[in-house]
Amino acid sequence: MIKLATRVGKVPPSITLAIAAKAKAMKTQGIDVCSFSAGEPDFDTPQHIKDAAKLALDSGKTKYGAASGEPKLREAIAKKLRNDNNLNYGPENVIVSNGGKHSLFNLMLALIETGDEVIIPAPYWLSYPEMVKLAAGTPVIVETTAETEYKITPQQLREAITPNTKLFVLNSPSNPTGTVYTPDEIKALAEVIIDHDLLVVSDEIYEKILYDGAEHISIGALGEEIFKRTIISNGFAKSYSMTGWRVGYLAGPTELIKATSIIQSHSTSNVCTFAQYGAIAALEDSQDCVQEMLTAFTQRRRVMVDRIQAMSKLSCSTPMGAFYVFVDISQTGMKSLEFSDALLEAEKVAVIPGIAFGADDCIRLSYATDLGTIEKGMARLEKFVKV
Ligand code: GLU
Repeated sequence: MIKLATRVGKVPPSITLAIAAKAKAMKTQGIDVCSFSAGEPDFDTPQHIKDAAKLALDSGKTKYGAASGEPKLREAIAKKLRNDNNLNYGPENVIVSNGGKHSLFNLMLALIETGDEVIIPAPYWLSYPEMVKLAAGTPVIVETTAETEYKITPQQLREAITPNTKLFVLNSPSNPTGTVYTPDEIKALAEVIIDHDLLVVSDEIYEKILYDGAEHISIGALGEEIFKRTIISNGFAKSYSMTGWRVGYLAGPTELIKATSIIQSHSTSNVCTFAQYGAIAALEDSQDCVQEMLTAFTQRRRVMVDRIQAMSKLSCSTPMGAFYVFVDISQTGMKSLEFSDALLEAEKVAVIPGIAFGADDCIRLSYATDLGTIEKGMARLEKFVKV
């Protein structure tokens, strides 16, 4: 009998990955599944990005690189953060990791230890609390509701702070709710963070996926006091349809980036070298591909939201960003696991139960899939909830 480390026992596997894998396996068996599970854009990676990686591969970019990332990519990311987000970073403030998830995990390891509390508004992306636990910290979950558009208020943040609070996790646009905080709301949260001398990690992975004129503002851009307390997490997966490439990054104060670099130098070393050249092309070449994908997401969102809002037992608000619809299922009398298991079993529609995000009366559907699947899946969902 193997006695595993206690830290493993405290953390369940990622449900998003598990359900996505289950839906894929069912498809391989010839079952006609409509999968709205993982947030993975169905588009292929744009050709110019693939060409840049192929060129790098053919020109010998196949060796170990700097553990913190190719200097050219760190420079390109710093430039992007200056130009797009008004954040005054240099390459020394940037570390390239194996996707946004790995960037956040490195951050937790570098920052959090036993006794430290991390404030996470719920519904949250399911890996945040687990990463905090793996780093031996304590996640402090603050519930939000549809009435406040699933946004944490400055007062709620203030009330959750204790002498042990170290970090606040902000994710706008949000996974799983699609909520986007307004600049004024971000400003109000920044004031609380400064008052209590906390750090904030701003997960901006969905920053380019915005609808109906919603605006993304990076909390760190609001002034010097908040800038020095901010860490940015971002990556290439969602905006450039590069999920499998595993390229993400953190940006923040130099000493913190240095610390994550030490961790990375003993764990993964550099991100796949030629993949990083694809990422350079993603940032430096035309951004038309981002816009084209956004146009498709906009249309898919409309179709999915309209169909769900027409189902009397379900309710959802229209997401302002990302590519998820967060649906309240409380009128069905079922909790989220029961609902999603039964839906998959009866109608072959894969969704993520809200319990994974800290909201058991809800389910999450990703519309990063084709319109045909959305139409078919919505008809099945209507049948399941009997409209
Ligand atoms: N972040 C995506 C999602 O929430 C991908 C899966 C995961 O890593 O959780 O579906």
